[in-house]
Amino acid sequence: MAKEMNTDQINEEQKVQMQAEQEQIKQNMKHIKHQILVLSGKGGVGKSSIAVNLAVWLSMQGKKVGLLDVDIHGPSIPKLLNLEGRKLQGRENKIEPIVYSDTLKVMSIGFMIQDENAALIWRGPMKHHVIKQFVSEVSWGDLDYLIVDCPPGTGDEPLSIVQLLGKADGAVVVTTPQQLAVTDVKKCLTFCKQLNLPVLGVIENMAGFVCSHCNQRTDIFGGDGGKQMAKEFNVPFLGSIPIDPNMVAAADLGKPFIYYNKQSPTAQTINYVFEPLLQSDKQIETHNQENKMKIAIPLAQGKLTLHFGHCEQFAIIDINEETKEIAGREDLTPPAHEPGVLPQWLHEQNVNVIIAGGMGQRAQQLFTQNDIKVVVGASSSTPEELVLAYLQDTLQTGDNICDH
Ligand code: ADP
Repeated sequence: MAKEMNTDQINEEQKVQMQAEQEQIKQNMKHIKHQILVLSGKGGVGKSSIAVNLAVWLSMQGKKVGLLDVDIHGPSIPKLLNLEGRKLQGRENKIEPIVYSDTLKVMSIGFMIQDENAALIWRGPMKHHVIKQFVSEVSWGDLDYLIVDCPPGTGDEPLSIVQLLGKADGAVVVTTPQQLAVTDVKKCLTFCKQLNLPVLGVIENMAGFVCSHCNQRTDIFGGDGGKQMAKEFNVPFLGSIPIDPNMVAAADLGKPFIYYNKQSPTAQTINYVFEPLLQSDKQIETHNQENKMKIAIPLAQGKLTLHFGHCEQFAIIDINEETKEIAGREDLTPPAHEPGVLPQWLHEQNVNVIIAGGMGQRAQQLFTQNDIKVVVGASSSTPEELVLAYLQDTLQTGDNICDH
């Protein structure tokens, strides 16, 4: 007779299985720096077009990019990149994505379906299973960005991918002006909020019309609804992309618009709209930097100089905040000592603490304004001795012996 399991046992087994799955995904995705989801409240707003153009644009900026099409019922990425009919290959228990170019790899359910006209009738668990395969069994390798084209709405597939990815950087939400009043976009933004998925920005697509003869743009719908919506939800507004008949033609030919129409005014607009997403790369990195502790010590002849104004070099010490140990040291020569220059320069080096002997009141103020904490009155010791004492709360400080 089959052994019966109680609910506790089942829950425990599920938990173990889920942990194993999460681990498999983590291992498979560990060389992907940034993951961006492209979402929309409704179909037909140009979400897949934006996802394709964003992926191609990032690869044109020299980034290594993966494009994942999670639209199980209407995969359009193969068509938009003229990759229809391509077959997937497996290697060492992994699925190889389709290589579009040296810097762009693509995966879509479209590559798994034999008959593109056949309707896929899949229930939630089956969809979840195939999405899980995309993130745990596709050999994405080293990527700067993975762009995920989600199906419209806030259903099973977007939910699955957000949950499976776990640590996506955020979502780009695509809308059209006439939909702005509709609750769909709001639902999409609320969905992100509920899942703690940062909204990297809202893009208003098909806003205004660009004449294919004279390239002149007419704002048919007018207004700044997208901006207002972004403001209401306190998320960035990335900008508007006009209706451009050449975008339809490019899509029909499977030639990504941004690559084949680089010089067009619409391409210039798209550059402007996408630019902050590349910046967000820097912001994410800066943000990580901000969370680290870096301590600067003004040096003369290898030790802390008591006279701040006489310092020849700065020892910049990286701290591992978890273990409270020194993780690295770099000695840098500062720019010429002009008022205000050093605080700004040390801020740019991501320094957040400075240990000094003596320092004038005005200089101390300038450091504080640059988010750098100042500790004065330290003795002339080596940077390592001072930093370790500071971390252990045993740093001896006396008078601010030199205040100029
Ligand atoms: P979604 O993924 O939201 O369903 P698609 O990207 O498939 O939308 O776009 C729907 C249609 O609109 C396609 O024919 C596409 O070429 C066209 N399209 C998308 N953006 C624009 C635009 N800015 N100007 C003109 N046509 C566009």
